[in-house]
Amino acid sequence: MLSTLIKKWRGERPSIFILSGAGLSVESGIPTYRGAGSDAKNDSPSLSKGYMRSIPEKVFEASNRRIRDFDACKPNSAHLAIAQFVRAYRLKADIIHVTQNIDSLCEEAGDTSVFHLHGALNQSLCQKCGATFPRKGFYKIGNQCPKCKAKFTAVRPDVVLFGETPHGLDWILPYLDEVDIFIAVGTSGTVYPAADFVKMATAAGAPIRILVNKEAPIASGFGYPMMDEESHSFNVVRLGNATSVLPMVLKEVGKLIDNIH
Ligand code: NAD
Repeated sequence: MLSTLIKKWRGERPSIFILSGAGLSVESGIPTYRGAGSDAKNDSPSLSKGYMRSIPEKVFEASNRRIRDFDACKPNSAHLAIAQFVRAYRLKADIIHVTQNIDSLCEEAGDTSVFHLHGALNQSLCQKCGATFPRKGFYKIGNQCPKCKAKFTAVRPDVVLFGETPHGLDWILPYLDEVDIFIAVGTSGTVYPAADFVKMATAAGAPIRILVNKEAPIASGFGYPMMDEESHSFNVVRLGNATSVLPMVLKEVGKLIDNIH
């Protein structure tokens, strides 16, 4: 029972932080980084800052492959459950959803709170003027920035390439100090800085830290060895598929919000 872990909110309203990863989109047909048939793993070496400078075609080709894969997928019931939770509780709670995913299935599900830590392939960035704008078509040399009209290799996917800094850390890290309920879903805790978020929230006193994942945290995940379960940062672990477990967890969290004033 979540109510045994908390009696009142730390601020005036509950602060909820949802961190999602590749596992959230698996049941929509997008494999995890390490999963079988993963284009993410094959394409990763191409998605680097170095290639963007020296052989941008490699970044564009890898991005276009992933865009084609993503376009064939639809949001699943876990994406929809987050969107529904945000709609139902945004007036009663501060809810932030930070995803590590570069697909846009959360937006397609109607999630208005989602922020892409690693950017999103449906968003483009002009390297010349810094403008960001919705992607039109596929990436190629010669696409033009709608703002400054730069061409050649100016327009690139607005995703965080290897060697670049994730988005939003300036406001995400302070927000973690205030969190009442931290929910991680479909993430292995092996990719930093996201893997550190639950530790930061724990250190700052977040009373409820829930993990929804197919597998238990692995040895290198979230910085803790699994043999020492007491010390890993989650105090509620619900193992299973995101589509079946997450809707139930969000219902439970919703009830808690309704019952604590
Ligand atoms: P990860 O691949 O390291 O871990 C995914 C986790 O999801 C694993 O622990 C796995 O057990 C779990 N999982 C698998 N199927 C699940 C399901 N049906 N329900 C619940 N959990 C499930 O992913 P990560 O931690 O997000 O880090 C990998 C990096 O690669 C991130 O930057 C990620 O965003 C990126 N990536 C993104 C996509 C995407 O945009 N959809 C896909 C692959 C990789």
